[in-house]
Amino acid sequence: MVGVSRSHPDADGRDVPETAVRNRSQYADTLHRPDPDADEPEPACVEADYRGDADFTDVPVAAYPHYKLCENPECFGSEWW
Ligand SMILES: [Zn+2]
Repeated sequence: MVGVSRSHPDADGRDVPETAVRNRSQYADTLHRPDPDADEPEPACVEADYRGDADFTDVPVAAYPHYKLCENPECFGSEWW
């Protein structure tokens, strides 16, 4: 997307979408890339498999600048680059 501000401090040079997925848990501190194949908001990585009872919701990345970006390659990890 041209002209979209990518101001997330961890997002330098990475393809970070405007929308990410977070666990609704109050202890969550990580944003995940949304799984494009899922009907419900769900991380693209294995996080959803680890936490079968977790409730994920999609959120604007810009609203959570204090969250880490998930480092799994399926999400925002660097192994693809
Ligand atoms: Zn993830």
